[in-house]
Amino acid sequence: MEFRQLGRTGERISTIGMGTWRIGVYSTPAERAGQVQALRRGIELGCNLIDTAEVYADGRSEEVVAEAVDGSRERVLIATKVSPDNLRHDDVIAACDRSLKRLGTRYIDLYQVHWPNPHVPIRDTMAAMERLVREGKVRYIGVSNFSVSQTEEAQDALSNNELVSNQVEYSLVQRAPEADVLPFCRRAGLTLIAYSPLARGRVPHGKIPERVCAKYGMTPPQVMLNWVTRDDRVVAIPKASDPAHMQDDASSVSVRFSDEEYRSIGGGQGSSH
Ligand code: NAP
Repeated sequence: MEFRQLGRTGERISTIGMGTWRIGVYSTPAERAGQVQALRRGIELGCNLIDTAEVYADGRSEEVVAEAVDGSRERVLIATKVSPDNLRHDDVIAACDRSLKRLGTRYIDLYQVHWPNPHVPIRDTMAAMERLVREGKVRYIGVSNFSVSQTEEAQDALSNNELVSNQVEYSLVQRAPEADVLPFCRRAGLTLIAYSPLARGRVPHGKIPERVCAKYGMTPPQVMLNWVTRDDRVVAIPKASDPAHMQDDASSVSVRFSDEEYRSIGGGQGSSH
């Protein structure tokens, strides 16, 4: 596994992390056990970043994550998110306490604002985030689905901490971050956490040259993950509930394509950066 710097911290996070949307949705104990196993397999393969959120499966995603990291908590970074309905100061504090309880941990490594809420002053939210850092409940602060100007406002609202990341949708079929968010992350030293990097499983086969797959012995989803993490400011958090998918995802960044190959991916629309 390849590792990258989280923001400007000394923390090393795996280029391929693990998403958990719909983890925690299960109809049998066996299905839940399979989800735990898939996450444990990812940890064994070197994925040390697990992304969840208070809203995923009404909190049950966080509970499954807790079970998966039991025995390896110190080896992984847990990233969770506070929902846009809970961004007032006291609501952030209460939401964090609920997440800590469900996660069965004393601290959250990366606490992210899931979406901006224009009705709540960002200063309110960030004051609560800094209190959580002071109290040792949160190690690093991040945002998600923030534009460049919203990210700058969030950073300005912090007194003693730096934002370390912005989590946005980025994939071969969703390239909007290349216009502004990614260049900003590079300039400001933030990590871009690419969500839905596999286009939610709808792989655009026409955009992935067969010769690249054949040369590296990769599947199209592996090529997508390699492509999206070309810039060393980007990490991706695919969700895989199938252990075979987890294995493929974790091994997708063991080689790097040539510049010409990168350019040929995505329908020849030019280099990603
Ligand atoms: P995704 O990771 O783009 O795609 C997930 C789908 O791809 C699943 O159906 C999965 O199948 C399949 N898959 C995974 N690895 C594969 C492989 N090697 N070969 C073939 N298929 C493969 O979609 P996502 O869940 O939307 O995004 C990932 C994570 O980003 C989420 O889980 C969540 O943590 C985060 N996210 C954040 C936000 C936000 O607002 N911040 C929004 C959306 C998502 P199996 O499950 O069957 O393995």
